[in-house]
Amino acid sequence: MKILVVNAGSSSLKYQLFDMTENRAIAKGNCERIGIDGAVTHKVPGREDYKATPSFPDHRAAIECVLGLLTDEKLGVISSVKEIAAVGHRFAHGGEKLRASAVLGADEIAYLESIVELNPLHGPPAISGFKACKEVMPDINHVGVFDTSYYSAMEEKAYIYPIPYELYEQYKIRRYGFHGTSHRFVAAKAAEMVGDKNAKIITCHLGNGSSITATVNGKAIDTSMGFTPQDGVPMGTRSGALDPTVPTYIMKKTGATPEETEKILNSKSGLLGVSGVSSDCRDVWAAAKAGNKRAKLAIDILVHNAKKIIGSYIAEMNGCDALVFTAGIGENDRAMRAAIAKDLSFLGIEMDEEANATCPSGEVADVSKKGAKVKTLVIPTNEEYMIALDTQNLTK
Ligand code: ADP
Repeated sequence: MKILVVNAGSSSLKYQLFDMTENRAIAKGNCERIGIDGAVTHKVPGREDYKATPSFPDHRAAIECVLGLLTDEKLGVISSVKEIAAVGHRFAHGGEKLRASAVLGADEIAYLESIVELNPLHGPPAISGFKACKEVMPDINHVGVFDTSYYSAMEEKAYIYPIPYELYEQYKIRRYGFHGTSHRFVAAKAAEMVGDKNAKIITCHLGNGSSITATVNGKAIDTSMGFTPQDGVPMGTRSGALDPTVPTYIMKKTGATPEETEKILNSKSGLLGVSGVSSDCRDVWAAAKAGNKRAKLAIDILVHNAKKIIGSYIAEMNGCDALVFTAGIGENDRAMRAAIAKDLSFLGIEMDEEANATCPSGEVADVSKKGAKVKTLVIPTNEEYMIALDTQNLTK
């Protein structure tokens, strides 16, 4: 069974074609500059990457190009589009109603259109991407997989904010949580490694965007991102959690509009804002090592806040069986992992420095000290595979 996974952004459309009998992607790529001019990169394992600059006036042109590449005599991996059994679409937001992955019909799309205000950046392009794919492949099932749905089992006390309840009822202001597909994938793998499907697990997805999630019995009970992906750990360019009056004070003092203030907190804060150097962790470490004090401070703030969240989740769960690191920083940045896991031995978290320093990027690794109460694990995330798996389960 072949499943196509599509992740549509405002000017991009990423794709992966999975062969589910082998549980692996047989081709993947990215269409970029949609609506501007057009560029595509198409990758097949064991072959040289193919790059071209076709014209992409819209998402439909991009998906037509993808299907052309997948079935191309030289560049392709399938002989006909008919080999694609179903398509899985990534959606950042499923609102309160789409609480699990679902085959997308008119009702689901109407609901997703009704909540674009909650998700103005990702919602409209993801819907356009779905519509384009449905037009080009009308006879097969299209499944939506929502980053938020992993959090649908959270209790009210974890998702209702302590503000007037009417604001939740009227505007749906609550914690939704994001990166759920990634947390679900790595938490399931960690439970398998711990050998207990009821395990208490903390997953740290640390990338350009970062979030930390607590999972018990395979269900997320709390997560650091909230109403938007702006909350929680400081990120590449996002502030993470703040005193709630900081934005309004910025507006009063600088005269910035709400949109300008959002931009400050979204695109000019985090590692970039504090260091003044870069949003990329590698650049910030390099500057810190060269003696840049603000770069060191930016890293210290990230570590400090990640530790605080981890500690609070151990308190919420009354224990922890595994602490997991994933995504760009979590999988690759050994120094960041060591700094976050340092001085947590009171809570049973003890890292084997040698194992952490030598574990190869891109592989699953147990980096905990022998006999440590909590396992510290590095698990590469694979959201696309999770989307393909849900799509297969819902359509086979
Ligand atoms: P996104 O949230 O955009 O998917 P990623 O998960 O790719 O982001 O993470 C990007 C972050 O990961 C950047 O801060 C980058 O510096 C960091 N990163 C990626 N590779 C490495 C590496 N080999 N060593 C250290 N940090 C890395």
